[in-house]
Order: sequence, then C-alpha cells, then structure tokens
Amino acid sequence: MSHAAPNPSSVSRRQFLREGMRLAAMTGAGAFVGLSIGRTGARENYVWQIDPSKCVYCGNCATACVLKPSAVKCVQAYEICGYCDLCTGYFVPEPNALNTGAENQVCPTAAIERKFIEDPYYEYNIIESLCIGCAKCVEGCTRFGNGSFYLQVRHDRCVNCNECSIARVCAGDAFRRVPASNPYFLKTSAH
Ligand code: SF4
Ligand code: SF4
Ligand code: SF4
Repeated sequence: MSHAAPNPSSVSRRQFLREGMRLAAMTGAGAFVGLSIGRTGARENYVWQIDPSKCVYCGNCATACVLKPSAVKCVQAYEICGYCDLCTGYFVPEPNALNTGAENQVCPTAAIERKFIEDPYYEYNIIESLCIGCAKCVEGCTRFGNGSFYLQVRHDRCVNCNECSIARVCAGDAFRRVPASNPYFLKTSAH
C-alpha cells in the first residue's frame, strides 16, 4: 500500500475541484443556518457535530439517529488521502482481488466509488445518498491508512435535536455543540 500523495496534474485538479465543491456545499449549509440566526436576532445558535479525532467507530451513528437513514455521513478528505490501490477503508482485510466485487468491499451499502486515476492511484468518493454512517470504512482507513475518511453530521439533513440521541450513546464522547456559523470539522492532516 502506498501512502505517498500522487502528483499527476489530473489528480491535483480533480482534488481541487472536488474539495472546492465540498467546501462550497458546507459553507452553503452554514450560511443557511447563519441566515436564520440573522433573522431571529442576537444570540449565536449551536448545532451538533462530531470531533473526528474522538470517534472510535462504534457504529452507533448508523443506528441511534432519530432519522433513518442517519444524518451522519462519511466524508472524504481528499488532501490527505493516499489514493492507495489497496485502500483499507474500501477493501475488507485480505480481499479476494483488488476489484469492485461486493464481497471485497467493506461498505455494506456500496456507498464508496473506486475510480482509477493513473497507475497505481485510485480515487475514492462517497456516494452520500447511500451512506448510512456505519463507520466501517472510517475504521479501516484510520487504523491502517491515512485516516482520510471520517464521519460528520450533515446539516442539510440533521434536525438539530435538542439532545442528540447519538451523542448520548457515542462510545468516544465525540459529539460537540459547535457554532452554527462554523458547523463542520474539516480534517486537514492525517490522524
Ligand atoms: S462504510 Fe459505512 S460510513 Fe463508510 S461509506 Fe459505507 S455506509 Fe458510509
Ligand atoms: S441531532 Fe438528531 S438528527 Fe441530528 S444527528 Fe443527532 S439524532 Fe440525528
Ligand atoms: S457514535 Fe461516536 S464513536 Fe460511535 S461511530 Fe458515531 S462518532 Fe464514532
């Protein structure tokens, strides 16, 4: 497995564009909440978010949310991904082959797209509509890879329960109240 970041310009450009789009989407979500604050006046509102450094991949994010499927989704930090051929967040331990066969994938809902970039590099994209927030890919990537997969509460889905039912059972005590104007933790370095 290689952890060295590739330098092909196609990868850099894709990475830049995807990260830009993701940040724009997140900023949009933050701005939406921010606007409601503006209308109601004075105090800063708070929303629930996960501190990725505390998550111990217990699986409760998938099962304890009041929403089905969960408002928690996996996100990919492209800038720290190794673009590994043998991605330990994508493949089960000792896969039959490094291909997209369902039996080789760690994700129970096939929510991760594996895309060839340039030998030996592959890009891994989360198909958010399929993700249930189970953290299986997060565990594999964090334990044996760069830790570029991590869980976040998506604010375009979360209904911001007064007491988050996942926070009450989170094994890592990873849930935090954060200002609605800055509602995401963005991972920018490995682990
Ligand atoms: S393994 Fe779980 S957390 Fe990761 S993409 Fe699939 S459903 Fe989402
Ligand atoms: S605040 Fe409610 S909707 Fe949001 S993640 Fe927690 S349980 Fe789910
Ligand atoms: S409940 Fe907490 S420790 Fe468990 S997967 Fe979610 S964030 Fe991670």
